[in-house]
Amino acid sequence: MEAIKPTFEEWSKNQKCNGCNCPVSLEFKDYGKSTHKLRDVDFEKIKGYYCNDCYEPALLKLKNSRFVERYKGQEIYHKEGNYSLWQSPSYCKSLEDLHNWIDIRLNMLEKFNMQI
Ligand SMILES: [Zn+2]
Repeated sequence: MEAIKPTFEEWSKNQKCNGCNCPVSLEFKDYGKSTHKLRDVDFEKIKGYYCNDCYEPALLKLKNSRFVERYKGQEIYHKEGNYSLWQSPSYCKSLEDLHNWIDIRLNMLEKFNMQI
């Protein structure tokens, strides 16, 4: 007998939360409300979905695992040889370079009274 592949609809109805294994809805109206997708420091999507209760703790755990230090009020994260702020499009290959980048940004933004 031929194995029957689930349709997308069947597959989407069987998705479970990565944290507590409860069923999660992939319906558009629930996305970002009761169903969440976790994104890494470099915006990479983490496989699977999270329910409301598990999303924040999972995000915190992920951030803690990437956290390096706090520099001038900015949290610095590290992933696969790159140092950056959380989900910032700019990153550096060394901590020193990122410190310099932050210094330059802060000096510049101070003039315009803006956040980094
Ligand atoms: Zn959950």
